Amino acid sequence: MATTTHGSLTVTASGGADERRLVLAGRLDESVGLLSSVAGWGAAVVVLETERITAINSIGIREWMHFVAGLSAGGARIVHERCAEAMIEQMCFIPAVRGAGTVRSFHAPYRCPHCDLEVSALIDVEVHGASLRAMQPPALPCERCERPMVLADVPERIFAFLNGS
Ligand SMILES: [Zn+2]
Repeated sequence: MATTTHGSLTVTASGGADERRLVLAGRLDESVGLLSSVAGWGAAVVVLETERITAINSIGIREWMHFVAGLSAGGARIVHERCAEAMIEQMCFIPAVRGAGTVRSFHAPYRCPHCDLEVSALIDVEVHGASLRAMQPPALPCERCERPMVLADVPERIFAFLNGS
């Protein structure tokens, strides 16, 4: 496992030529240069884990799109895992943010109407895919009172990225 710094972002890479996992943390902004590392991170499958990305700006997301396209051009199948809420927001507006990749799991804002707990819940697309595509937020159990939580936003704004996937 190797952690490298790319401007405001750190990337921890693990795995090998069959499957490589890249865990990204920090800010995706104008200081971030990921493209130069694409060749070193190539693999049959590249899993991009973004839940620890805290902020994204327009120059950063442009760099990200080139990065994802570069990995695909190198022959990698892209899987997005544990996507940050900020990353999902970008995917809803710009399909190239997801690129040719599939989303396996992502974070969404949830609220418990019983105890008022607010969380960034992790949603598994394989488990909840059908209801997500029907814009029906899964009723996830509250981690405090165990009763069903509700999505704290309009489903169409969050699940739109699944269209065409
Ligand atoms: Zn609760």
